Amino acid sequence: MSARKATSARKRVYFFGDGQADGRAGMKELLGGKGANLAEMTRLHVPVPPGFTISTAVCSVYQKNGGRIPDAVKREAFSALAKVERVMGRRFGDADDPLLVSVRSGARASMPGMMDTILNLGLNDATVKGLARRADERFAYDSYRRFLSMYGDVVLEIPHERFESRIEARKAERKVRLDVDLRAEDWLRIVREFQEIVEEHSGRPFPQDPAEQLWGAVAAVFRSWDNDRARRYRKIHGIPESWGTAVNVQAMVFGNMGDDCATGVAFTRDPSTGDKHFYGEYLKNAQGEDVVAGIRTPQPINRASRREGQSQLPTLEQEMPRAYQALVRIYRQLERDYRDMQDIEFTIENGKLWMLQTRNGKRTTQAAVKIAVDMAKEGLISREEAVRRIDPHGLDQLLHPTLDPEAERNVVAKGLPASPGAASGRIVFSADEAETRAKGGEKVILVRIETSPDDIHGMHAAQGILTARGGMTSHAAVVARGMGKCCVAGCGELRIDYAAGTMGVRGVTLRAGDVITLDGSTGEVMQGEVAMVTPELSGAFGELMRWADKIRTLSVRTNADTPADARVARAFGAEGIGLCRTEHMFFEPGRILAMREMILASDGPARERALAKLLPMQRGDFADIFRAMAGLPVTIRLLDPPLHEFLPHGDDEIVEVARALGRDAAALRAKVEELSEFNPMLGHRGSRLGISYPEIYRMQVRAIMEAACEVAAEGVRIQPEIMLPLITHVRELERLRALVEQEIAAVRAEWPRTKVKPSIGTMIEVPRAALTADLLAEHADFFSFGTNDLTQMGYALSRDDAGKFLPDYVESGIMPDDPFVSIDEDGIGRLMEIGVVGGRRTRPGLKIGICGEHGGDPKSIRFCAKLGFDYVSCSPFRVPVARLAAAQAAGAGEKKPRRTRG
Ligand code: ADP
Ligand code: MG
Ligand code: MG
Repeated sequence: MSARKATSARKRVYFFGDGQADGRAGMKELLGGKGANLAEMTRLHVPVPPGFTISTAVCSVYQKNGGRIPDAVKREAFSALAKVERVMGRRFGDADDPLLVSVRSGARASMPGMMDTILNLGLNDATVKGLARRADERFAYDSYRRFLSMYGDVVLEIPHERFESRIEARKAERKVRLDVDLRAEDWLRIVREFQEIVEEHSGRPFPQDPAEQLWGAVAAVFRSWDNDRARRYRKIHGIPESWGTAVNVQAMVFGNMGDDCATGVAFTRDPSTGDKHFYGEYLKNAQGEDVVAGIRTPQPINRASRREGQSQLPTLEQEMPRAYQALVRIYRQLERDYRDMQDIEFTIENGKLWMLQTRNGKRTTQAAVKIAVDMAKEGLISREEAVRRIDPHGLDQLLHPTLDPEAERNVVAKGLPASPGAASGRIVFSADEAETRAKGGEKVILVRIETSPDDIHGMHAAQGILTARGGMTSHAAVVARGMGKCCVAGCGELRIDYAAGTMGVRGVTLRAGDVITLDGSTGEVMQGEVAMVTPELSGAFGELMRWADKIRTLSVRTNADTPADARVARAFGAEGIGLCRTEHMFFEPGRILAMREMILASDGPARERALAKLLPMQRGDFADIFRAMAGLPVTIRLLDPPLHEFLPHGDDEIVEVARALGRDAAALRAKVEELSEFNPMLGHRGSRLGISYPEIYRMQVRAIMEAACEVAAEGVRIQPEIMLPLITHVRELERLRALVEQEIAAVRAEWPRTKVKPSIGTMIEVPRAALTADLLAEHADFFSFGTNDLTQMGYALSRDDAGKFLPDYVESGIMPDDPFVSIDEDGIGRLMEIGVVGGRRTRPGLKIGICGEHGGDPKSIRFCAKLGFDYVSCSPFRVPVARLAAAQAAGAGEKKPRRTRG
């Protein structure tokens, strides 16, 4: 209770230890992710070394204070340290039996490898002797040298290599390969050498006072919030600069005290596939990041974690069964408490297990879906929660092509399947090169011996990542999975030569610029490009989609112009076509000529003759689309683009086309000029075209009707919807609607028994249409927002254009979110709202949809749900994204009756 009371706004230091903690999991803003989770684990009575967290608020104070830690904070910290001393039964700085601590950064969002941790703090020439008494001198000096180099690196900014090279030199002298083969006297020698390096570099001896060490380290963590790597990571991941990091000071436990000690990392489920097995790696007699640094090959914690090439290594389960069983109990408890897959770090000291970190693990989208579905089935979370957890943007990954199993592959190497997916690209050996080439539009694969945080920008730019060293938890693997990028890691047979720009493998030499293909699901590396195939919605993904469908009230349609697209979309769950553009049908070879003949016709009858040739072609297209969409609504938009788009442009082409049509080239040229416009966007197109060439629209309506009657007669249920594009004024709509109705009536007269009766609606894509929607609704059975043109005309500035022409404007921060990407209430969304409100005022229950690109964008979908839309329509591959986004948006708008089809 008293601990609870002390949690006032002014509290800056939060203790955890011995089953009690000032913090908890929900306090990430203040304690950072690591600190909040250490507190939570402590509360759960999981064995966690005691310690305390200095809050993120102090980080801001530190920056504002010109890099000083306030005395009041120090006082609070020392009193927390005294509690740690009591729990551990050791004192900080005590020469006989010293308490050592780690100093660990921890921001709100996890930033892997971005901030540096210092271990074994509190060691000096006196306390190291006391530490030796707990085990032996080898262990004590090994710990001391680690501390010296970490402190030297992080606090004093001495290049890490300076220390590393001393160890390498010592190993060479001793003729040994591994760190563990060095003896106490070697480490003592190294400690002395490290101290010399420090003194030489900083002009003063290494600080012997543990308190000075502590504050030096805490300040360094605060400073590290501002280093380049951290800044770059934040920029890529959109983490605000203002958040700051917390600092955790925690009693040390030792994984390097002998062969009954170890350090390891694990995921409670497979982060790559999501399969439900405990997965991890560990190293005996090691400390800290040794496991992920690739110093020695880590061992699998259990059989399920064993990868190819590790078959001879014993597992933790075999070597330390009691610690392993404890780990299993704890990971299950953590999964239950967090209700999510955990990424954990642990250390075993003399057979006793200690937990040092837990957090929700990064995972591929495939794993995210599998885990969410499994957890819902296990009763850990609800189905709604499972649906909420998946980022719709990430689904792209699952919908993207994978390697065609039938395609021939020339496999040249095999590594670990570190992050699934497939990618082809040109080999580059540096992150900068990857970035430059990607900017130039090339697809590249970043090939590195191993990656480090300095490579992040290159990993981002690359299609895929290939490394020679490192396991499933290496930097490359973890970061690639986070980015949703395919990665093959630890491909030991690669001989990479950065200087020569070559990569040798199995007798082949590949050079920078050569094309390779990676399969992140098998670990295969292939020479050249390999064909890819589109995936299916099966297994967990299919199940999640079905749950999403039960939750959502928005219907999801697709934009499809061909039967093939319609079928793909239907397989992805489309519930109709929201936009079928008819112009593409005219561009096909064989049709374009008839189209041109129609445009060039000198009078009505000549035009009718040309149109008569087009009619059966269109009818056939529509019939196939209706069949593909049996039972579902299909919105067909009448001809939209300006006619000159169908005519030839270059002189040569004009001559050629004139010859093919048996006409005079000069007359054709004159027609091309006559039709070209200054502002084709608003000009003689869409509804205007329908008014000046009514024969075209009449032919199209006839084609739609005849196809519909024919297909309906086959017993297929169909719901055609005829859509008039680019309406600007209510009179255009009035007039065209009459024309469309006339033609419908004419065809119905020829099919007296048909029940087909299309509805007639309009696109809202000109601002004036949105503003006068109440008038338009008198003559429209439905509205469909054409947000591409509406955005263009309502706000003609995309971020890409602005970046190109107005860089200062973008820099200035005036530039709002790109309206071509997402719609919200601030911009184009207002026009839409006016349109919806106006339309439904005149015609309550007016059916409303969206068919612009935004129909596949989750944020815009949420906005449409809020406005009470009936459906969104998007490209076939985005249909699953839209289904999920629609489910997540359910309840965003006013209460509506349950969705009916269409
Ligand atoms: P990161 O944020 O990079 O994961 P951590 O603060 O988790 O850095 O520290 C890295 C590793 O250092 C941990 O996984 C753990 O192995 C080791 N470590 C940190 N604190 C302690 C401690 N108190 N005792 C033993 N090992 C520790
Ligand atoms: Mg960690
Ligand atoms: Mg348009």
